[in-house]
Amino acid sequence: MAPVTTELLYQTDSYLNKFDGVVTATFPEENAVALDRTAFYPGGGGQPCDLGTLDDLKVLRVHKAGPAILHSLDGKLPAVGTRAQGVLDWERRYQLMRTHTAMHILCGTVFRDYGALVTGGDMEPLKGRMDFEFARLQKELVAIIEAAVNREVEAKREVRVKILPRAEAFQIPDLIRTKINLLPEGIQQVRTVEIVGLDLQADGGTHVRNSSEVGRIRVADYKSKGAINKRIYIELI
Ligand SMILES: [Zn+2]
Repeated sequence: MAPVTTELLYQTDSYLNKFDGVVTATFPEENAVALDRTAFYPGGGGQPCDLGTLDDLKVLRVHKAGPAILHSLDGKLPAVGTRAQGVLDWERRYQLMRTHTAMHILCGTVFRDYGALVTGGDMEPLKGRMDFEFARLQKELVAIIEAAVNREVEAKREVRVKILPRAEAFQIPDLIRTKINLLPEGIQQVRTVEIVGLDLQADGGTHVRNSSEVGRIRVADYKSKGAINKRIYIELI
């Protein structure tokens, strides 16, 4: 079967929580369908996939398979050509948007104040953890970092998403630190997420429009994973 490309509605409008799409392929082994367009985020970059419904069927899992987004459904698959309405579990998605933006606030703040680079991260609704190369992190810094990230929330910073040609993105010095150079050769466009004045990254996730929507961030814990590698846990209140 030829690959079916799905238009990724969430890439340009993270607040879209309802949409119509047409079934372009079915995948019986995963009880999944691909649609011509979707607002369901398939997971990636530490952000879990969206859940919700497609017509009256529950969407149990969403994932990317090449250029297509597959929606695993609870029930009998609609046939190719069927028009269906997708509705996101918006409470979960909006919590993930707030959490994902909070993670970028954390890594932007820690890089600005301490020059520490991120090596990985993971999140669930209202909770996240992020790993840094951050030898100097000790208990005393936790409260200072917590105050600093909350100042960025309160600063009401705009969050801007852009899709740039690869060559143009590679000219932006800030993007190099987030390992943009590791992007596969074939990728011709780079989506960037900028918390204006704080952080700029190549990123495929869904974010809130303004840092103030994140709400208060608590630095819940930190863990030493060695002399250099440290993990910071955050929670949204
Ligand atoms: Zn991200």
